[in-house]
Amino acid sequence: MSGFKCLVVAGTPGVGKSTVSRLLAERIGGTYVDLSELVVREGLYNYYDPETNSYVISEERVSARVRELCESGRGIVISTHYPEVLDSEAVDVVVVLRLDPRELIARLRSRGWSDKKVAENVMAEVLSVVLSNAVARFGTGKVVEVDVTGKTPDEVVDELLHKVRGGATPAGYIDWLGVVEPGFIEELERVLEREPEA
Ligand code: ADP
Ligand code: MG
Repeated sequence: MSGFKCLVVAGTPGVGKSTVSRLLAERIGGTYVDLSELVVREGLYNYYDPETNSYVISEERVSARVRELCESGRGIVISTHYPEVLDSEAVDVVVVLRLDPRELIARLRSRGWSDKKVAENVMAEVLSVVLSNAVARFGTGKVVEVDVTGKTPDEVVDELLHKVRGGATPAGYIDWLGVVEPGFIEELERVLEREPEA
């Protein structure tokens, strides 16, 4: 058995959360929950913002609903890029998937996103934003990182389960700033500073 009631798979959009969460749930005979889908399906938002084309979630209701799900079930796998809204008590472990930003660019471009939206998300991965938010909320003891670069979804699930079952927290956190060329960051900054196209 998996040894956890409730596991969160977090990470920047495009790193493979949905793919890995679905596979993980299947492998452990658990249940996969996509947090954004749950929010829309159950109306756990305050309003829809047409400016940003997104739902402004009700953290209180999302957190309460997830607590309920986690208490009722076994092997619940929740995929989200904003783990910091969840109740840290209800969740056993948060696994943050990390992907080399140079690969993430290609994945997000293939979604047909604008250069700016791609750059915003790739910059967030470079700066470890999701990881920092997860650690701030859950503490280092509940947060595990898995570098998914160059690995198949099956290999990612194997590594994830190994780390979670071993209770191992990696000694150091992944820092893409030391991996990518300075020119890569400068190019992202140029795109982010561009005037929005009217
Ligand atoms: P997220 O839920 O984090 O936004 P997805 O699971 O939707 O990410 O994956 C984004 C894209 O990357 C999809 O096209 C998916 O098929 C692909 N993908 C996911 N994991 C891997 C992997 N380990 N290797 C190669 N491609 C992957
Ligand atoms: Mg997803």
